[in-house]
Amino acid sequence: MDLLASLLQITFIFLLFRTILTVIGGISLSKRLKESRRNSGTESVYDISDNEQATDAAPRHSAITIEMVRDDICGRYVARNKAYIIHSDDEDHYFCSWECRQKYLGQE
Ligand SMILES: [Zn+2]
Repeated sequence: MDLLASLLQITFIFLLFRTILTVIGGISLSKRLKESRRNSGTESVYDISDNEQATDAAPRHSAITIEMVRDDICGRYVARNKAYIIHSDDEDHYFCSWECRQKYLGQE
């Protein structure tokens, strides 16, 4: 009976050990997958927001400094995060409104 008990114990420990190894292996594998995903595919920085309206929201108190950019068409200054952006000729062009953006595209 003692032999059977110790055999069972050894089997149990072996199985436990194997489970731990599988878990550790799984974690390192998923880490590797995440890293390869991070390295592949650089996302485009420039976003021509076709759907979003560049509306003037109420001014908020925030620590973030808002960069102002000049509209090439009408000369108005708009907050960069609200401007319509067109990236062409290795330059960014900003527009206060959809209309100005369309005018610019018509000029080209
Ligand atoms: Zn404009």
